[in-house]
Amino acid sequence: MLSKTVATLIRRLNFGNTSRVLAFYSRRYGQIRLIAKGVRRHAKRRAGEVGPELFTEGELVFYPSRSDGLAVLKEWCEEDARPGIARKPVRYFAACYVAEVIEALSREGEPSAELYSLLAETLDAVAGASRCETILSAFELGLLRILGLAPETGLCTICGRKRDQARRGGILYSPVDGGAVCGECADRVEGPSVRLTAGALAAMEHLARTGPRSAVGVSLRPRELRPIREALSSSVACALERAPRTLRHAKTLEKARKDR
Ligand SMILES: [Zn+2]
Repeated sequence: MLSKTVATLIRRLNFGNTSRVLAFYSRRYGQIRLIAKGVRRHAKRRAGEVGPELFTEGELVFYPSRSDGLAVLKEWCEEDARPGIARKPVRYFAACYVAEVIEALSREGEPSAELYSLLAETLDAVAGASRCETILSAFELGLLRILGLAPETGLCTICGRKRDQARRGGILYSPVDGGAVCGECADRVEGPSVRLTAGALAAMEHLARTGPRSAVGVSLRPRELRPIREALSSSVACALERAPRTLRHAKTLEKARKDR
């Protein structure tokens, strides 16, 4: 029986001589991994038809997987190719990071409309952005919230008391503990921590409320942005239980852009 859903392509691998394995995140079914048979042979004959491009949103029709393996692509109807993403490396690697994290943290057969909307909104914002750091921060905050891991910024995550007001040197943020830590608990932090100024913490709370679309217009000074990026990407790495492969490229590019 055929299944149908709106989906976004998050990974594409060549398979054998003529086929591709595609990973989608879909609104109705969560993650879907399927095989697109013969798309590469087909591409040689008819230019332009090379199957879905990465980060494209469209309607997917497929034969669900049997117990032995992958689902099979029947039809793909492109709705939004997000062509802006491929035009700038900074956008492309930001999108790769978003896709990697979604693929790693989502499961087949476990849909989340909220996660799908976050993915779509983030990629739409990235496709037109000149810089992606605030968008990625808002994405990470949205993701952590959906996973039930929203960073705690008002209370100390260790003792539960209201955290201190920002002092000189800033407030401690512990990715492993899941948020801000008060001065008295500083010695009990496990793993690396980041110091955030009161301004950075307020900016983080603001980005959590606005989401990726409005994050495009949020302008932050490097001394606020840098620790926010470090804190949130570390929190996502904790959720993944490893450092994302693509994050390094995204960081290198943002730095190169700034140094120019
Ligand atoms: Zn404490």
